[in-house]
Amino acid sequence: MKAFLNVFVIPYFFKILNDFKKQVPYHQILVLDIDNTIADTWPEIKYQGVIKSPRFSFFKKLRPFKKRIAFLINRYPTTPIVFLSNRNVVYYNTTRNWLIQNGFSNRNFRLILTLNVEDKLRYLKLLQNHYKKVIYFDDLSYNHEHGEVKYYQIVIDALAEMELEYWGLDQIQRIK
Ligand SMILES: [Mg+2]
Repeated sequence: MKAFLNVFVIPYFFKILNDFKKQVPYHQILVLDIDNTIADTWPEIKYQGVIKSPRFSFFKKLRPFKKRIAFLINRYPTTPIVFLSNRNVVYYNTTRNWLIQNGFSNRNFRLILTLNVEDKLRYLKLLQNHYKKVIYFDDLSYNHEHGEVKYYQIVIDALAEMELEYWGLDQIQRIK
């Protein structure tokens, strides 16, 4: 099902990114993950237990990491932003509204949702072709709610082969 959906989803988001580059020509791009990067997602999962679908209200009420968001906005005041989040596309509007309500209302951004974490690499590669510099913040971790942090190591290893500025979980957590 996911592979089938991706036939439509990936070209759609590729077009959004190609148009964004034309509309906002800029030398660098800031790419931001949402869950556990700028939203405090895992404690909510722990608190609520297994989240039943639909998750509209769950995503709507997520607590933002205000200091991290302020840090990003101050550090990159004019850089266009692409949010890259591994969430079902049905939560597109909910996710977009959350971003607008949590600090990004004045920013020029696009939102890309992936069906698999590995798909993030496809978008990052496209962005690398478009921009001189790609700055990417993503915890790329999971399982926090069970007390043992695991990483999407395949993706992290692939990033190491790419020429981008990557901020992972440790660096993100150090932002105060
Ligand atoms: Mg995340």
